[in-house]
Amino acid sequence: MTKAFITGIQNMTNTIGVIGLGNMGRNMAATLVKKSFTVIGFDLSETACKQAAEQGVIAATHLSTLTEQCNIIILSLPKAEHVEAVCLGDNGLIHVVSPRTTIIDTTTSVPETSRMVAAEFSKQNIAFLDAPVSGGPAGAATGTMSMVIGGEMEAYKQVLPVLEAMSSVRVHVGDVGAGNIAKIANNMLAAAHLITTAEALTLAEKAGVDPEKVLEAINAGSGRSGASQAMFPTWVMTKAYDSGFTMGLMRKDVGLAKTLAQSLNLTLPMAMQTAALWEDSAQKLADSDDFCCIAQCTNPLLFGKEDEV
Ligand code: NAD
Repeated sequence: MTKAFITGIQNMTNTIGVIGLGNMGRNMAATLVKKSFTVIGFDLSETACKQAAEQGVIAATHLSTLTEQCNIIILSLPKAEHVEAVCLGDNGLIHVVSPRTTIIDTTTSVPETSRMVAAEFSKQNIAFLDAPVSGGPAGAATGTMSMVIGGEMEAYKQVLPVLEAMSSVRVHVGDVGAGNIAKIANNMLAAAHLITTAEALTLAEKAGVDPEKVLEAINAGSGRSGASQAMFPTWVMTKAYDSGFTMGLMRKDVGLAKTLAQSLNLTLPMAMQTAALWEDSAQKLADSDDFCCIAQCTNPLLFGKEDEV
């Protein structure tokens, strides 16, 4: 994309920056394009930029190209350390972003990092919301994600049309950092439910009942969860294992829950056992494997791909 073309983009409020064009960021950017926003994207990976460009995103080669054109910038990065580097690093946003910009960080990150980064930006009159998401790449691609948002209400209201374009449910949960606390709590449950559902189906199978039927029964009963209603039918029982969310990222989220609990001196035995099982899974499952593969650690015969068991 030529500089002349980018300079020609007139409508600042309708031009959104997206930094991190991976499984989530690329699909969020494509959704905004479909909803008539102009989207300028940036990623360190050429492949990610190319894939986003195929979906109508203008791929910038420098962060400054993006910050010159956008007063709303969405981050979709792997971890808190990436957020800190992109925001406050030597070549980070803090050095190039215009005042009155709002940064929406959809990364599942560390609450303390959100608070620290927001405090630095606020010195320059830049708003920062932590707004982690649920719904996976499919939810990002269809604008039906759930978002949990922390930060100043005024900044939240200002960017609401953009959040509405990306999501079907939004919960403003409190001050900056609260979004990530809510997301960590949610993913701690999702991580546990994947394992408990695998255990329930193993129990039923060993007792001689068809696990497919038992899954149907659980989903009609009080034991149901996002794991039983969405993850098992879509990715585990089909053995598709192509959700677009990796073991590495879920292990990170479970680790965030463990660290948060420890920092608060809490005794949460189920959470700690869940964390231990996800940590142990690293011996069998690579970071790049689908997160639903955790079911295979409970029962490789039932949940493993035929050619792998
Ligand atoms: P991903 O690894 O597919 O994408 C991350 C992208 O960030 C990559 O393309 C990478 O090149 C890019 N990146 C890394 N450092 C960068 C930098 N300094 N500058 C620019 N780009 C950089 O990850 P994802 O699955 O899209 O997840 C993104 C975030 O969303 C994570 O925090 C994850 O936990 C969270 N999340 C993911 C899902 C999912 O289903 N994939 C669901 C909910 C939440």
